[in-house]
Amino acid sequence: RTRVLTGITTSGTPHLGNYAGAIRPAVAASRAADVESFYFLADYHALIKVQDPARVQRSTLEIAATWLACGLEPDKVWFYRQSDIPETTELMWLLTCVAGKGILNRAHAYKAAVDKNREAGEDDDAAVTAGLFMYPVLMAADILLFNANKVPVGRDQIQHIEMARDFGQRFNHLYGEATGREYFVLPEAHIEEQVATLPGLDGRKMSKSYDNTIPLFAPREQLRKLIAGIVTDSRAPGEAKDADGSHVFQLYQAFSTDAEAAAMRQAFADGIGWGDAKQALFERIDAEIAPQREQYEALMARPADIEAILRDGAQRLRTRYATPLMAELREAVGLRDLG
Ligand code: ATP
Repeated sequence: RTRVLTGITTSGTPHLGNYAGAIRPAVAASRAADVESFYFLADYHALIKVQDPARVQRSTLEIAATWLACGLEPDKVWFYRQSDIPETTELMWLLTCVAGKGILNRAHAYKAAVDKNREAGEDDDAAVTAGLFMYPVLMAADILLFNANKVPVGRDQIQHIEMARDFGQRFNHLYGEATGREYFVLPEAHIEEQVATLPGLDGRKMSKSYDNTIPLFAPREQLRKLIAGIVTDSRAPGEAKDADGSHVFQLYQAFSTDAEAAAMRQAFADGIGWGDAKQALFERIDAEIAPQREQYEALMARPADIEAILRDGAQRLRTRYATPLMAELREAVGLRDLG
């Protein structure tokens, strides 16, 4: 079976972008018979960006409840919290010791931080943590630990999958050549062509890190207000509007059928007013997520149940894959001789 792995960083409240870009397609894909799905809450990753324990804790609960409310079936897929699998960080060290530092220098997130420092006239590495620099190695460990062969990602993440392939290949080569053992399957990035990157309230990519999100399960009235606050140009009702350049339309498209989107495109050309367009967007989104919102609220009232589901998932997953693989890897590199 194809092993598909998806993670969401526990850095804030899950938003419409996480839902349309990751959760909705992943839950649909997990129903295929030939797929073994791995869903995890990337809480080690969250620490790179968020040093607020209460926020990480709350986000973990919210993201777990979101997956469950959106139809993830924890007895049919692997559903776990990254930090419940300590083999992840152990594998990260083994990979760190084969990963080229030069490759990590080229990682987008690190380069962006360096560029920002240069623009500000600061030292290249000012305020850059080793955690940010090492992030691609942690991600490689997430993937290689379960030999996931398919990782659905946005375009900006392709580079990280290539790095995971590179580290896995180096490890296979260094330690497996003599014995003919391939320790790691090399993962492939899977780009979902029809999944768009949703814009946030300010027009940049909707992201937990930018504080520009529309929370997926915001209460109804708050959802309406947030949508009303999306930035638009000042075209008046009656004036033709460019659908493709509009954040309101991009969001509408992610929550509607092709026919509905085509009708809205026409309404834009006919000069629909922004208030009406936003109201239509609110109604579309609310119609799609209202049942899950109810589930979500019920789940959030039972944090101990969520905790139990996560622990159980991690325990089974360690027994099945992580513990035996790590034992083999420790032997491969010479830390243990199991005879
Ligand atoms: P962070 O700022 O902590 O990185 P994020 O909100 O940008 O958080 P992640 O947790 O890194 O998102 O991503 C989880 C999943 O959600 C990924 O598969 C990612 O591609 C998807 N995703 C995130 N933001 C968007 C968006 N604006 N549009 C579509 N998909 C998105």
